[in-house]
Amino acid sequence: MNQIEENSLVLIFKGQRLEPVSREKNMVGFCSRCEADLYSIAYHNTDDRWLVSAGCNNGHLFLLQYDRQWRWLQDGDLEMKKEVVRICDIAREKLEAVFTAAEIRDLAACQEGQPYTRQNLYRARAKYEKFERLFGIKIDL
Ligand SMILES: [Zn+2]
Repeated sequence: MNQIEENSLVLIFKGQRLEPVSREKNMVGFCSRCEADLYSIAYHNTDDRWLVSAGCNNGHLFLLQYDRQWRWLQDGDLEMKKEVVRICDIAREKLEAVFTAAEIRDLAACQEGQPYTRQNLYRARAKYEKFERLFGIKIDL
């Protein structure tokens, strides 16, 4: 599955990370799943082709592939990759302003697939909104 990162619009194509060369929104055809208009999300290129990430209003995503002369090659699948904030990358002072030490420890443990205390996670979850309001960082665990 090809993936595009939600905010940066970096395309992950065959294991390569491709920065968008354009974020222009153009109508690029019709959705093959629901026939709605298909719009470009971002344009990327590789040595031998243009790649256009595109989606319809119903959330169907495709990776349109063209050669360097813009001759259509094929459509591929595409999914939106949510960017996950890593707990260990958030400044400790920010975390401590909202969460207890035990909650921070268990948030990090949960994210890393380590054992954690469920109750601490529940308590932390109740504070996500406050954390986002204060620091503009959305935690999703
Ligand atoms: Zn569609």
